[in-house]
Amino acid sequence: LAESVWILGDQLSPTHPGLAPNRRVVLIESLARLNQRPYHRRKLVLIISAMRHYAAELRAAGYEVDLRTAPDFLSGLRDHITAFGIRHLICVAAAEYSTRQFQQRLAAELGIAVTILPNTLFLVERYPPARPPALMEPFYRAMRRQTGLLIEPDGEPTGGVWNLDHENRRRYDGRPVPPPLRFPPDVITSQTIADLADACPNAIGSADGFDLPVTRAQALAALADFITHRLPDFGPFEDAMSAEHELLFHSRLSPLLNIGLLDPLETAQAAVTAYQRGHAPLASVEGFVRQIIGWREYIYYRYWELMPGLLQANAWGAERPLPAWYWTGQTRMRCLSCVIERVLRTGYCHHIERLMVLCNFALLAGIRPQAVNDWFLECYVDAYEWVVTPNVIGMGLNADGGRTATKPYLASAAYIDKMSDYCKGCFYDRKARVGPRACPFNTLYWNFLSSHETRLRANPRLGPAVLGLSRLSAAEREAIVAQAAEILERIGEL
Ligand code: FAD
Ligand code: SF4
Repeated sequence: LAESVWILGDQLSPTHPGLAPNRRVVLIESLARLNQRPYHRRKLVLIISAMRHYAAELRAAGYEVDLRTAPDFLSGLRDHITAFGIRHLICVAAAEYSTRQFQQRLAAELGIAVTILPNTLFLVERYPPARPPALMEPFYRAMRRQTGLLIEPDGEPTGGVWNLDHENRRRYDGRPVPPPLRFPPDVITSQTIADLADACPNAIGSADGFDLPVTRAQALAALADFITHRLPDFGPFEDAMSAEHELLFHSRLSPLLNIGLLDPLETAQAAVTAYQRGHAPLASVEGFVRQIIGWREYIYYRYWELMPGLLQANAWGAERPLPAWYWTGQTRMRCLSCVIERVLRTGYCHHIERLMVLCNFALLAGIRPQAVNDWFLECYVDAYEWVVTPNVIGMGLNADGGRTATKPYLASAAYIDKMSDYCKGCFYDRKARVGPRACPFNTLYWNFLSSHETRLRANPRLGPAVLGLSRLSAAEREAIVAQAAEILERIGEL
């Protein structure tokens, strides 16, 4: 066995393309990588416990596995090569830019042959697009055709339409929310929690209450649980937000998809099967398939197209530091305090809260995109640069000049109030734009439109929003701009 496949912690797929009977497997718990940032403890536990379970399963299946702790990847690989006389190393291209660069330098660094296989854990590398897709919708349709998901024999979309988003914008109506299946720590996970307490002293959050799947079998059980209990209501309440229910009808599958425990195609296929069996309506199933083979793959595609410049993008010239309350949740803005408290505790909140609460505020307040990107990378259990950076710098903050999303996602309290129960009981007045209790989202929203009016007018998708400005009197506009300046001055005390 002079050949090894190096499997990264986010590539724990049972069908990893580098696995072969005559190859060793090497997995490295790199202390440098684990401590590259102060990550959420639950994310570190998830990855390391899943790696240890994966190693055990491969051994049980007859593979020779070298799972080792090392100061960094390079020293871990060197030690592995020396220990086993390895002459050829195989890896699957990393999902993240810097690790892929590192893989490309490996042959020179190690002095042995290195083969880098395409990362077919992503559908876009499994089915590379014929033409570079400019926008998400054509990208998604091409992906539907490639995979055959929700495509009829005549090539038309199931149900006759590609997009059912208009059916999926309901406010939560209080119906019971089936809780996700929980997977309390076993012996391996408990040991991982203890080891990481020593190895990663600066990690944020707590591992208490850790209940995520860490094996392939558990990941499949979590998928089945979502399909059975929450998928039917997924679509209509996809954009809804609730102070009581952090998950509502979302899947909480991103942490598993992002480390390879679930495959995107099988995940989307499971939803389609539920539709074919009459278990879930088309709007929910199409909505879910769109997230998995559409948005998720499109984001990965954009990341590779826009890197490395994306990391520095700042199209709106936003330079304000992130307010300290993003790290505590201590703000009187109820939407932000609920969502931040939830993220710091669990490492999770769902999409609309990431986009329309956390990023929306940061965009309106002119927070530096790189500070917001850092916060997202550190706080979430499903955070990896390939998915965070296009979502935050591109979609959430529109700092990439509209390359990821064609319009900035901007909203005042009216949207948050329409889709959530946050405004009821908030210190601020969701209706007011100025005055001592005016909701900061309102003041900052109108201030943003006012300050960037010319540029926003040029965007056809924002026409209606900017038109609203003409309904404000000159005096109102002046008062908003003055109050916005005052709010931004004492942003740390909101
Ligand atoms: P569901 O609502 O159940 O959706 C199903 C799946 O669709 C998700 O599991 C995810 O794999 C995929 N998906 C949907 N939208 C996206 C998207 N825009 N990009 C990538 N995948 C998508 N996703 C991450 O996996 N990691 C992140 O760190 C992350 N950061 C984000 C930051 C911002 C500002 C925004 C706007 C989105 C971010 N997303 C991220 C995308 C999305 O919010 C999460 O994938 C989703 O909330 C995860 O929860 P879920 O599994 O319950 O999702
Ligand atoms: Fe958030 Fe404003 Fe509503 Fe308060 S009133 S919850 S700050 S949107």
